Amino acid sequence: MNILIIGAGFSGAVIARLLAEKGHVVAVKDSRNHIAGNCHSERDAESGVMVHKYGPHIFHTNEKKVWDFVTSYMEFIPYINRVKSTAKGAVYSMPINLHTINQFFGKTFNPEEAKQFITKQGDNSITEPANFEEQALKFVGKDIYETFFKGYTEKQWGLDPTQLPASILKRLPIRFNYDDNYFNHPYQGMPKEGYTVLVERILQHDNITVELNAKVLRNDALQFDHVFYSGPIDEWFGYSEGRLGYRTLDFEEIRGDDIQGCAVMNYPDSEVPFTRIAEHKYFAPWEQTKSSIAFKEYSRACEEGDIPYYPIRLVNEQEMLKKYINLARQEQKVSFVGRLGTYRYLDMDVTILEAMNTAKEFLAKLEKNEPIPAFFVEPI
Ligand code: UDP
Repeated sequence: MNILIIGAGFSGAVIARLLAEKGHVVAVKDSRNHIAGNCHSERDAESGVMVHKYGPHIFHTNEKKVWDFVTSYMEFIPYINRVKSTAKGAVYSMPINLHTINQFFGKTFNPEEAKQFITKQGDNSITEPANFEEQALKFVGKDIYETFFKGYTEKQWGLDPTQLPASILKRLPIRFNYDDNYFNHPYQGMPKEGYTVLVERILQHDNITVELNAKVLRNDALQFDHVFYSGPIDEWFGYSEGRLGYRTLDFEEIRGDDIQGCAVMNYPDSEVPFTRIAEHKYFAPWEQTKSSIAFKEYSRACEEGDIPYYPIRLVNEQEMLKKYINLARQEQKVSFVGRLGTYRYLDMDVTILEAMNTAKEFLAKLEKNEPIPAFFVEPI
């Protein structure tokens, strides 16, 4: 089959590779001037630092098959994400752990004592947390919530935390020991030569061609036997139902030799306009660099022409998304994949797993002569 894949991020690259290996001819086209989507990394000439151009990406997964897949293309160097947070004039350890609790409350609790203390801090009248704020108040109480989560979340999402789903907070663990590893996953690391080279290797196959700076028109796309579209679903339909809401990020560069002493420093205070500072040399501690570079991250509403990062998915967006899903189901030859194609907040590993499963199911359906669905993963 002649297959078109729109978008050369992880979704597109993984699907392209797995189909190419089965003999399909795959054209991958991306509207930007580079592959790897928002994972794109590039070496900064002045400092020699490998910079994650669209903000920090740390690879972590529960799935051995995802880990085996990525590490078959590139060596991954063990990397543990240890985030700090500067709040109300002091520096704390993130995610909330025994060190944070003891430091914040001026205590010397052991795990059991801390658990009892935090349970008392929590609002027990909340049984089923309906939103981000209730989730936080129930599990960590007002003081921790207001110091570490409220301001950060307002800045990150531009919304009151009562309007956000509880699921966003569930991304962060709370620990009653001194483990400050941001992620719980067993496989964690950084691709040695960076994400862009990793994606380049995934795309390196005789049956795959890659075209950059390529805006694909719908009619041209439909000349192919099948299309996997990993761009924004609303864009595919010319925004006919309106624009789905995203947050975008602006980065302000800081240069120096040693800027903050760690990879990621969060700034939850509402008076500080940015959410965090990432110093990229710390994402590659095995490399020697001439100097350092860091970026302040400012979050704001994504407007026309901006790069979409985080899907907002509130009630209004869900309604609009349903309309796009209905339109998508009427397309004969297009499957919508990935973060932008299905409008979901996806980590890299989930994106890769879904792409692996999509390719597998697509091949199985072809074999059985079954119709190819618009979605291999339901967006809602
Ligand atoms: N968050 C927070 N304070 C922090 C870090 C995170 O309130 O110091 C909240 C915030 O709402 C954020 C969410 O937790 O959007 C998920 O954080 P994560 O670090 O997973 O965000 P990502 O790295 O994907 O931007």
